[in-house]
Amino acid sequence: MPFKQLVKFHLFCLILSLFSLPLAAEWQTEDAAIMGTTIRVEVWHADADKREQGINSVLNEMERVNRLMSPYIEDSQLSKINKSAHEEPIEVDRDLFHVIEKSLEVSRLTDGAFDITYASVGHLFNYRKEIKPTEDEIEQAKQLIDYKNVVLDENQLTVRFLKQGVKIDLGGIAKGFAVDQSIQHLKQLGIEHALVSAGGDTRLLGDRRGRAWLVGIRDPANTEEAVVMLPLEDEALSTSGDYERFFIEDGEKYHHIIHPSTGKSVSEVRSVSILASDATTTDALSTSIFVMGVNNGLELLNRLDGVEGVIIDQNAKLYYSEGLEQPESAANHNANVK
Ligand code: ADP
Ligand code: MG
Repeated sequence: MPFKQLVKFHLFCLILSLFSLPLAAEWQTEDAAIMGTTIRVEVWHADADKREQGINSVLNEMERVNRLMSPYIEDSQLSKINKSAHEEPIEVDRDLFHVIEKSLEVSRLTDGAFDITYASVGHLFNYRKEIKPTEDEIEQAKQLIDYKNVVLDENQLTVRFLKQGVKIDLGGIAKGFAVDQSIQHLKQLGIEHALVSAGGDTRLLGDRRGRAWLVGIRDPANTEEAVVMLPLEDEALSTSGDYERFFIEDGEKYHHIIHPSTGKSVSEVRSVSILASDATTTDALSTSIFVMGVNNGLELLNRLDGVEGVIIDQNAKLYYSEGLEQPESAANHNANVK
């Protein structure tokens, strides 16, 4: 075996053996079903009570955010906005206000690709029941998609809609926010090593005690497999994929990411993964760049500081933002393409 290959082989064996080591007893893991997705918490602390407190505080926070922002809970503040914000300004909790404010910022940044009023059309779909609106219904309802129809008052903490029929949904950002909140709770408890994920949104606190966390980007064509493994520390990673929530009718795929100008699902790419320091940003940007597609998406990623991404198109081709392509940062992120 040539020397270079031998070194590679040994490195491979070493990595393999590291991953097969059992987790130390000071690690604790919990999975739960909240916000319509799977929540995973992994924490390290020498004190078992701290670990327990950490996990409980994360699950409580996820439940709290869900009660505030779910469109499926009739008396959530979000439902209240959707019911009455066209009649009068609705006063909301500071966190909900903040998430809506951040959503509007991302709308401006992405030229409207991210738009929480997509829900004016989006609420007519039910992917589980395979229900979709007619072309006429889409045409009608899409007139109401425009983030400028949402007006915020920072002093009063109120939300108002300029038109009747406008609806908002925070499905493209709320999970990232809940993950960020969870990490803050863990930090306050003195926890320094943790992973919190909510579906496709993950944030890592610290490292995995001496080694990086290894987070995979799924292969859209075979979601059991990873296309890329990224070793990460103190970072957030979100993936948006067309395989998350969808149904197929007459050969056409209807999935949950909607182009605000057509009111229909977007099909240029299959998956977008974004890396940044917080999960609210990565969540919103993964959805945005899914809508924007390869060219506009990469152009935006390359313009933003501290944000990187990997896009996979319909032909399984991978595109990396410049920070991941550069040799030293690529080595940093160690993006191994299988
Ligand atoms: P998930 O983790 O639920 O798969 P993503 O981060 O991939 O979510 O975002 C998809 C969700 O974003 C959809 O379920 C919907 O709630 C919301 N969404 C869809 N289209 C848009 C859009 N153009 N702008 C903002 N949010 C959107
Ligand atoms: Mg998202």
